[in-house]
Amino acid sequence: MSALRVSIDSDVCIGSGQCALTAPSVFDQDDDGFGVVRSGREDGAGDPLLKEAARACPVQAITVEEA
Ligand code: SF4
Repeated sequence: MSALRVSIDSDVCIGSGQCALTAPSVFDQDDDGFGVVRSGREDGAGDPLLKEAARACPVQAITVEEA
């Protein structure tokens, strides 16, 4: 299995929090409510809900790519 790289486009994120609700082991919200990838979890941490979280983002701000 190849490694993944998860990122959030902070210019696009509207701070809905869906990512952190869906896959809290990978995503968190900053003090302003915007989505962030948890430190050290940029590879998705093997979370089976990662792709669902990316799909759940209402503005497609989350990118999951092969590293
Ligand atoms: S689901 Fe999308 S818009 Fe909502 S906080 Fe996460 S990245 Fe931002």
